[in-house]
Amino acid sequence: MKTNQNIYDRACNVLTGGVSRNTIFREPHPFYVAKAKGSYITDVEGIERIDFANNMASLIHGHSHPAIVKAVTEQLKKGTAFTMGTEAEVKFAELMIERSGTFERMRFVNSGTEAVMTMIKTSRVYTKRPKIAKAEGAYHGTYDYAEVSQTSNPDNWGNIDKPNSNQVVEGTPQGALNDVVIFPFNDIERTLNILDQHTDEIACVLIDPVPHRVGLFPATNAFVKAIYDWTRKNGALMVFDEVVTYRVHYRGAQECYSVKPDLTAMGKMIGGGFPIGALAGRAEIMEVLDPRGKILRHPHSGTFSANPISTTAGRVAMELFDEEAVLKLNKLTDTAIHQIEEAVKIADVPISITGDGSMFRIHLQATKPTCYRESYLDTENKTIIKELLDYLFLEENIIMINTCACMFATSMTQKDVDRLSEGLLNGFKVIKPKLYQYH
Ligand code: PMP
Repeated sequence: MKTNQNIYDRACNVLTGGVSRNTIFREPHPFYVAKAKGSYITDVEGIERIDFANNMASLIHGHSHPAIVKAVTEQLKKGTAFTMGTEAEVKFAELMIERSGTFERMRFVNSGTEAVMTMIKTSRVYTKRPKIAKAEGAYHGTYDYAEVSQTSNPDNWGNIDKPNSNQVVEGTPQGALNDVVIFPFNDIERTLNILDQHTDEIACVLIDPVPHRVGLFPATNAFVKAIYDWTRKNGALMVFDEVVTYRVHYRGAQECYSVKPDLTAMGKMIGGGFPIGALAGRAEIMEVLDPRGKILRHPHSGTFSANPISTTAGRVAMELFDEEAVLKLNKLTDTAIHQIEEAVKIADVPISITGDGSMFRIHLQATKPTCYRESYLDTENKTIIKELLDYLFLEENIIMINTCACMFATSMTQKDVDRLSEGLLNGFKVIKPKLYQYH
């Protein structure tokens, strides 16, 4: 019989560290999937686990939804990638533009990283400016500029009035760091002061409306409005990274703000389980990508961009995730948060929960963090979080995201929620002695 250990032993001979994405690494070895259906994954040793990670928020209907499998199977027989267009991309763009009410034009790419990169480059071309501004701690993929200060820590983050632009990986060009202005999320006064020092240089202010790594709490309307007004006054764009947050409301997290972004990057869930990214926004700005222009201002392609497998799966997934489905899923997630808060009370542990829509994050601190620097306490408690997640994975057969977050899917039921809150209650009791040791 195949075991997780022996597959990993083979993997170590051919993949660096035995993995292709660090996210799946676990000690003593990662676990390998044999099959998955709905909310459940069975590994190669036959252990079935309930999946609250949903491939880092990308599976809004859980695994192998029958309607997606059927549509993709039909498309597979007709071909998978062409140096020609397909109607699949047109149909999907029509659906998304009709749904959003604010998107005028779209482009499909292959990942969230690529969508954010294309959005930043489009903003630079349109404004003819080099700099971007982004929130300290926010994750936007791995483009050099987008990742600046994503992992800032107390030793290098600097004064909150002017946070440092820190590299994530050694050897990042100083020029890239110089062109990224860092602001503290949801802090209007400091952010406007910081932006004011770069009035003629900023192409776009990049906002994830519910940034996971900052702490998974929403941007306030006042904050988004203040940034929007600043960008109008100073000739910059306000752009949203909704790679994760498009799930939060029917028209994305942007639905709840009184002002709308000029451009939006999407990914994850809109691929229906297949690799995708998308850029959408105002036609006048997106025009810089138009091959019919006299001058090709932003030559943009991508071998697998808008391939018919991803766009077919994505369209079916979004059709199924209609207004009713969004509301139902958000309600179930609210119930889960409520039950876990009860578990926190019963276990009597200093734990709080933040989140929005169909996602939430558990923090090992009694008061909900309100900024990246407060959420950072969780990073300092990394070993206890790891112990909790390992306990859930190995003893309760529950999969969560390694930041202690859950991303719900429409395949989930009240029974699954009960199992999650009971598993967490047991887990809280396991880590409780350590929590008090450190607080
Ligand atoms: N933006 C956000 C907010 C993300 O969470 C992620 C991925 N976790 C990305 C961008 C990058 O997406 P991808 O992994 O598809 O490149």
